[in-house]
Amino acid sequence: MSARILVVDDLEANRRLLEARLTADYYEVIEAMRGEEAVQMARREKPDLILLDVMMPGGIDGYEACRRLKAQPETRHIPVVILTTLDDRDNRVRGLQAGAEEFLTKPIDEVQLMARVKSLLTLKVVTDELRAREENGRRLGVIGDDMRADAVEQHRVFAGNVLVVDDNATQIKRIQSALGVEHRVTLVGDEASAGPPDLAVVSVHAKSFDGFRVIARMRSGEATRHLPILAIVDTDDRARAVRALELGAHDIIIRPIDEEELIARARTLMRRKRYMDALRQRLDQSLELAITDQLTGLYNRRFLMTQLGPLVNRAQCGGEPVSLMTIDLDHFKRCNDTFGHDIGDAVLREFSARLGSNTRPSDFACRFGGEEFIVIMPRTPGDIACLAAERLRRSICASPFIIPGLAQQLEVTISIGVASTEGVDDTPETLLKRADEALYEAKRAGRNRVIGKAARDAA
Ligand code: GH3
Ligand code: MG
Ligand code: MG
Repeated sequence: MSARILVVDDLEANRRLLEARLTADYYEVIEAMRGEEAVQMARREKPDLILLDVMMPGGIDGYEACRRLKAQPETRHIPVVILTTLDDRDNRVRGLQAGAEEFLTKPIDEVQLMARVKSLLTLKVVTDELRAREENGRRLGVIGDDMRADAVEQHRVFAGNVLVVDDNATQIKRIQSALGVEHRVTLVGDEASAGPPDLAVVSVHAKSFDGFRVIARMRSGEATRHLPILAIVDTDDRARAVRALELGAHDIIIRPIDEEELIARARTLMRRKRYMDALRQRLDQSLELAITDQLTGLYNRRFLMTQLGPLVNRAQCGGEPVSLMTIDLDHFKRCNDTFGHDIGDAVLREFSARLGSNTRPSDFACRFGGEEFIVIMPRTPGDIACLAAERLRRSICASPFIIPGLAQQLEVTISIGVASTEGVDDTPETLLKRADEALYEAKRAGRNRVIGKAARDAA
């Protein structure tokens, strides 16, 4: 994976060391010597990862630089690893509280460093992809500015569900006392009563189960794939730490567990998960928005066209026939002219609701535009499609529309044209055209009727 890494250190020798190690793995390295410079450069160059020294003479230190990076929307998502010679817990906790994803002590253990770099960059690729898609959605207008996923990160502390997978009673107690203040802590086995977890804390030194297997399984399981995992590893057990990271743990905490460090790491992991969840949810919503019609909730024209092509193709290649009905409300202009546009809209909504409940789950009901609708019926020959159309026509004219806010009931009728891909060379366009011609005939013949247009009639 090629990525750009910003190395921040006031000492030339330190920068050279990191640069040599990183470029050996084909990472691109850019450098800064001061905190302020690092913050500016990050904003300008958008690196994929930042390795940040703490002690830098003059200006702001690494903690403050980290806080500033995490405070600006343009750089907030870039993972930060704080590097320092100060191996005491206060400094470790301070770094994490400043929002850093990771904390490594000098002299840097190369294996640990590279494992961290790799796992943070993997995560960054996913975040970038989601962010890019969100940006596209915003440009297309399907995502509003009001619900930026970024905004979620402002809530730095929140109550989450923590699942503890461990068999060491003393350690469990410690985790509960540290995380129980902010979060709901559940032990493995009792998780049925809790909601879905936001974080899993897994010991890789347990006697009664294989912690590595737990991690691997969580990472591959459908329901837990996005769950952050914090692995508990013995001090100096480098091999296990690296193994846990390679298997997909997002972070490591060494034991005996320092409670404040645990709190800070849990917060960082959960904050990131929240952010990713929000991005993902925004995308689901925007996708749905992109394919549905706002007024009626039916599929829109864009979606119709993406579905129709492949279905017609398959039918042409010897697959089962696909049929279309084109539906148009009769004299709808009169309804608007008499009762106003809002009542007209309400009629369109009521019609759409009836349309929805009169189509099979395998059909696609779409609003093609204005008061014209199209239903795609996969695997349906023309005669069956005509029967379905006739049933729909009757369900509309059989009982008048009751519109909220309108005293009188409205008689609504529709005309339907049906076309089917039987025995002809069809494209989506020719099929739509034939259905449209059939609809026109239905209108001309007096409205409130169904006309099926077989391919041979069209020739
Ligand atoms: P016909 O039976 O021949 O289809 O007559 P019609 O009056 O239904 O057809 P025409 O195409 O003349 O008029 C369609 C009307 O539908 C005109 C337009 O203002 C109205 N319309 C289109 N889209 C909407 C909408 O979203 N809301 C409302 N209320 N009216 C709409
Ligand atoms: Mg009409
Ligand atoms: Mg019309």
